[in-house]
Amino acid sequence: MREERDVPLAPLTSLRLGGPARRVVQVEDEAELARVLAVAEAAGEPVFVLGGGSNVVVADAGFAGVVVRIASRGIRATREGDRVRVEVAAGEGWEAFVERCVTEGWSGVECLSGIPGLVGATPIQNVGAYGQEVGDTIVKVRVFDRDARAFLDLDRAACLFGYRSSLFRHNPRYVVVRVTFELAVSDLSAPIRYAELTRALGVRPMVIALRRTKGMVLDAGDPDSVSAGSFFVNPTLSALELGALEARVAEAGVLRPGEVMPRFAADGGRWKVSAGWLVERAGFVKGYGDAGRRVGVSGKHALALVHRGEGTTAELLALAREIQAGVRARFGVELAPEPVFVGCAM
Ligand SMILES: Cc1cc2nc3c(=O)[nH]c(=O)nc-3n(C[C@H](O)[C@H](O)[C@H](O)COP(=O)(O)OP(=O)(O)OC[C@H]3O[C@@H](n4cnc5c(N)ncnc54)[C@H](O)[C@@H]3O)c2cc1C
Repeated sequence: MREERDVPLAPLTSLRLGGPARRVVQVEDEAELARVLAVAEAAGEPVFVLGGGSNVVVADAGFAGVVVRIASRGIRATREGDRVRVEVAAGEGWEAFVERCVTEGWSGVECLSGIPGLVGATPIQNVGAYGQEVGDTIVKVRVFDRDARAFLDLDRAACLFGYRSSLFRHNPRYVVVRVTFELAVSDLSAPIRYAELTRALGVRPMVIALRRTKGMVLDAGDPDSVSAGSFFVNPTLSALELGALEARVAEAGVLRPGEVMPRFAADGGRWKVSAGWLVERAGFVKGYGDAGRRVGVSGKHALALVHRGEGTTAELLALAREIQAGVRARFGVELAPEPVFVGCAM
């Protein structure tokens, strides 16, 4: 266990923003985690669990409590017929895990290549991209239940996975310590499996290349990747709400000739609309905010807010509110933020 005091949090986040934490404690295993949480609870000290910091916005004032970082490592695979069960410690890096899966011929997470952060954070918002979500392949999540003060194993149904949501989202009760995935095995001996392996091997570089064009791969040489990924989730609307939105879109005159507003059928007869499209058509185009502003809209992706250096969380939040208000005024749609706020709010 390693403990430091008055630790700047900005370098621990992909946005490079935010003030210090009173304490940061790094835990290596379950016993250490339980001990740290018990001490914090007894002292009435607020706790925040930080992974790779790629989906958080930390207040300029920092966090007056203990930030717990899970540094447990280990990947254990068990073959079961044409499937493999892979138990992964929460502190493993997600991207390295996906690379290992593709190399081993385990398929099911290859479309999630290039997403930053730790494995333990992936169930929190049911990380997803290009048609895959971790909730499709997760079969078990081991957590520390802070209310029951005990470790427990939750199966997929108990995790309540949905679009960018789960039992764990905005719910500090559970700390994830291990995630178990069930993946398909691609064996070179079987022609069908070979085709699957070729697909997975081919998908990964394609996904990473595509993500790079959008600034969606963390890269020290790409200023558009200094973000928390997508800042807003895609709104999910009822058929009635969709009709009202389409009328407002037509009225606003923002459709190009022959264009239809992008929308996708979601569960329960609802419709998902593209937050990025709404943001752009409300006037917040790629690169918005460039002139002298230290935060802005990514030059590669309308949904990513980027920190251009020397900025503050207050500036970032002001920009996010400006975009939210702009979309509300033009289209009557309320955009919900995707990142988790630490010590601040929208
Ligand atoms: C460039 C870029 C691209 C991205 N692309 C995508 C994408 O395509 N799809 C997508 O879904 N997301 C994407 N994201 C968002 C982010 O990478 C994911 O949400 C990721 O899973 C966050 O992992 P993290 O370890 O960085 O978590 P953090 O940002 O550290 O934490 C996020 C939340 O999870 C909680 N948390 C973290 N670890 C644990 C744990 N062990 N137990 C309990 N709670 C925990 C934290 O308390 C916090 O609430 C992107 C982000 C960036 C910067």
